[in-house]
Amino acid sequence: MDAERLLKGKIACDETGIEIKRSICSICNPGSHCGLDLYIKDGEIVKVEGTLEHKNSGGTLCSKGAATRQYVYSPDRIKRPMKRDGEKGAGKFKEISWEEAYQTIAERFNRLKKEEFPEEAAFFVGYEKWIRPFVQRLAYYYGSPNYCNESCTCFKAMYMAWKLDFGELAQPDVGNTNCLLVWSSNPLYTNTPQAQMILDRRENGMKLIVVDPRISPIAAHADIHLMLKPGTDGALALGMANVIINEGLYDKGFVEKHLHGFAEYSEYVRGFTPETAEGITGVPREKIAEAARLYACTKPAAFMPSASPVVHHTNGLQNYRAALLLVALTGNIDVKGGNLFKDMTWLEVPSGFPTRFQEYITPPRPLAEYRPRLGSREFPVWMELTNDAHGGMLRRQIMTKDPYPIKYLMAFGLNVRMWPDTCYTIEALKKLEFFVNTDIFLTDACRYADIVLPACTSVERSEFKNYPSGYVLYTSPAIEPLYESKSDADIIFELAKRLDTGDDLMKKGYEYNLDWVLEPSGMTVEGLKKEPFGIMAPQTPHKYKRYEEEGFPTPSGKVECASEVIGRVQPSAGALPVYKPPGLSREAQPELAKEYPLVLNTGSRMPMYLHSRTFRLPWISSIRPAPAADISRDDASPLGISQGDEIIIKTPKAQIKVRANISEMAQKGVVFVYHSYPGADVNTLIEADYLDPISGFPGFKSLLCSIEKAGGQ
Ligand code: SF4
Repeated sequence: MDAERLLKGKIACDETGIEIKRSICSICNPGSHCGLDLYIKDGEIVKVEGTLEHKNSGGTLCSKGAATRQYVYSPDRIKRPMKRDGEKGAGKFKEISWEEAYQTIAERFNRLKKEEFPEEAAFFVGYEKWIRPFVQRLAYYYGSPNYCNESCTCFKAMYMAWKLDFGELAQPDVGNTNCLLVWSSNPLYTNTPQAQMILDRRENGMKLIVVDPRISPIAAHADIHLMLKPGTDGALALGMANVIINEGLYDKGFVEKHLHGFAEYSEYVRGFTPETAEGITGVPREKIAEAARLYACTKPAAFMPSASPVVHHTNGLQNYRAALLLVALTGNIDVKGGNLFKDMTWLEVPSGFPTRFQEYITPPRPLAEYRPRLGSREFPVWMELTNDAHGGMLRRQIMTKDPYPIKYLMAFGLNVRMWPDTCYTIEALKKLEFFVNTDIFLTDACRYADIVLPACTSVERSEFKNYPSGYVLYTSPAIEPLYESKSDADIIFELAKRLDTGDDLMKKGYEYNLDWVLEPSGMTVEGLKKEPFGIMAPQTPHKYKRYEEEGFPTPSGKVECASEVIGRVQPSAGALPVYKPPGLSREAQPELAKEYPLVLNTGSRMPMYLHSRTFRLPWISSIRPAPAADISRDDASPLGISQGDEIIIKTPKAQIKVRANISEMAQKGVVFVYHSYPGADVNTLIEADYLDPISGFPGFKSLLCSIEKAGGQ
């Protein structure tokens, strides 16, 4: 073949001068991070494919990863460090050198520490997540307990529910289960490698039950789809528990020995007959009973929770506790094919090998010796269960200075559209005395920063990466960092040298710190660099049913149907997994529901979006060019709304205009809107304090709204 045709086909060979370099995509969550084959010519990426040899993704890429070239070469990239040169929000900046940026940041933070209180500086990690442990350690050693991250609206409440019920989080053993109960998770959009595993198991006869208010792609594969009204998960779980207990399908040996508060719980569950549960959830009673029997009688069965949807309700944490107790009732805990307790190896990924991760992020002195973390007063259960400050309370404390001011913020990838009431977020950012934001793109949050630092993408840096299977790799940069951007890790470790922390370990740089963390595993950065396709890390054999010897790590040593932690620190919330309707629902606010008769559910994932990050990519934005709401034909037709019409979505707080997407996925009575559209920010429709009282998670997925055709056409 002649060179011109080879070049046109972007074939890697001597004639074209194109070579393939390997890296990972880190646009979405750390459980995925698919392998990338990057075709490089003259230092530039000319083509992107999935890496066949990558043991987690096996050559697959989703639409976001396929658009990697557009992500890397986006015109929105921040090119050089900048300082504000105008009003906050005006977007006027002046380019400065890295030296000036580092010096300014170090001088301000060191002065705050010397003259006032280091606690008045908060540290925040949004996207990407891979730098969390480094920022957490930096914050603690600098002297602030106010390290927080975007898990204050994602994952952490689910984690809290597991901690309250079981003492720790347990992962579904999908590869060995015969029945998988997927509760409002849609891995076909959010975790494609995991979705592949589920579909493979399905072909081998695994039963699949899916709980989801939409006909999501995974729900379309289910034996039983429980299509509940948003925010009624707790009533559904209690209804299933009612069937399991009444019909004697529970694991009596396990329950007698290992459940705390079973008598009160089973008494409470008596009130949730399938008929009652149907009335609350909208799921037919026969289906509730059928799902309960299938889950309880198929052994082993695993429970796959979602990180966010169930806890994005004002009753979310208790709902999740109720659902998790199905695992305990059936004894499917820490058994092969059930849900397994696995230590988090690095970040929030359990990879089956020992590290010094927990030691690395432990503060140098007890947290109680610092001033109270963000959210201490409002969310005492959170404070009992986690070391993080509550990021959801960052804005409130900046605005009110109560119990003390937050003046400085060092953020990485902060998104102004991650909390309800975006205007409130912007007001808080404006109030800060000093705000540093590091990001790949010049986002709306950057516009309010005093200093903006340019981070590079995953393909321009080195990174240690671990996967749930135990697969690990250390990436090399496929191209040089564009412009003057740098790896976030390099930025953090340079700041660690210059800030007054007294932490000798962080002064030694990224790779030294990784070696320190990995030391118990026997792996080293140098060793991993020699394995460009990665390796399977030596695994610590899993010991099933460890609780039989050690009990559960809860106050009672048992699975807690009645939580001793809630009973002690927030008894008003209810020690049992009590069901209450969402705060803004027809049941809780019947008068308001006359004016706002529909349920607004925000933030359900779409395959091409990841929060606000991929709107800027032409391939991605062409898939759905305008902000849109998914609504059912049953809701659209009576209002004269046709496909593509402009509609107004109203809540008691505000209104936005979007296009109508009439979808078979949507449930009658529910309006589904993706969050973070730059032109139609659905978070402006939600009050800042519309929160779950235990976790502080926003009620993103159930509130009241109305829709109408725009312009009265
Ligand atoms: S965005 Fe897509 S390609 Fe990238 S890591 Fe996630 S699933 Fe993989």
